[in-house]
Amino acid sequence: MARRKQIYEGKAKILFEGPEPGTIIQYFKDDATAFNNQKKAVLEGKGVLNNRISEFIMMGLERIGVPTHFIKRLNMREQLVRHVEIVPLEVVVRNYAAGSISKRLGIEDGVALPRSVIEFYFKNDDLGDPLVSEEHITAFNWANPQEIDDMMALALRVNDFLSGLFAGVGIKLVDFKIEFGRQYEGDMMRLIVADEISPDSCRLWDMETGHIMDKDRFRQDLGDVTDAYREVARRLGVLREAESSGQSGPVLVSDNEK
Ligand code: C5P
Repeated sequence: MARRKQIYEGKAKILFEGPEPGTIIQYFKDDATAFNNQKKAVLEGKGVLNNRISEFIMMGLERIGVPTHFIKRLNMREQLVRHVEIVPLEVVVRNYAAGSISKRLGIEDGVALPRSVIEFYFKNDDLGDPLVSEEHITAFNWANPQEIDDMMALALRVNDFLSGLFAGVGIKLVDFKIEFGRQYEGDMMRLIVADEISPDSCRLWDMETGHIMDKDRFRQDLGDVTDAYREVARRLGVLREAESSGQSGPVLVSDNEK
């Protein structure tokens, strides 16, 4: 097989040139990083689980009319996605206090916020992805006012969809981060959901027990990280029920690995 051209290597994913113009192959690694790369580990099977969970969520978003970059899953670790120009912002939606908002504003973890709160962070590893305001975003031309409105409206639709999806399987969606890309078609441009949506980018707590089922297990050294991700996948129906119990590796439904 001809060697594929690598476009970019990030902390958890590698992007390769896709088979057709306007497409990219997104490869999910097992690497985990936190605290802006200061903490690193390889979590065996994480990439496989995130590939499947993100596929499931992106397809669900498409079904309710939220455009995403997802085209199709290629194999256990790769998906074909649309090539977009990434908006250099991380858009966070919070339903309950946790993580940086708890620290910054002195709110106890788990407190329900008065309403869903949207925040923007500037994507810049050297600066540690700082929180920015709409003033910064427009002044520095990272996005225009219309794009900010569109991202906020889409982020709230994603929040409604994800909150319902996870509530249905006994999981509380505390917060999540999404990224947007600009897709150009002729002179038209539209914003679509890009990157991934997985337990790496969401806070997910079991509704009954409060058990943490996301990357905070890695950040806080709680252990059993991939077990928690596997349980999220199992509840969403991405893993076969019988095989997800008692097996150490992720067993996936209808994989079409090359
Ligand atoms: O750390 P903080 O509380 O701001 O994170 C909010 C949400 O955004 C969490 O779900 C976290 O996993 C996600 N996040 C992310 N990538 C980052 C920063 C935060 O996925 N670089």
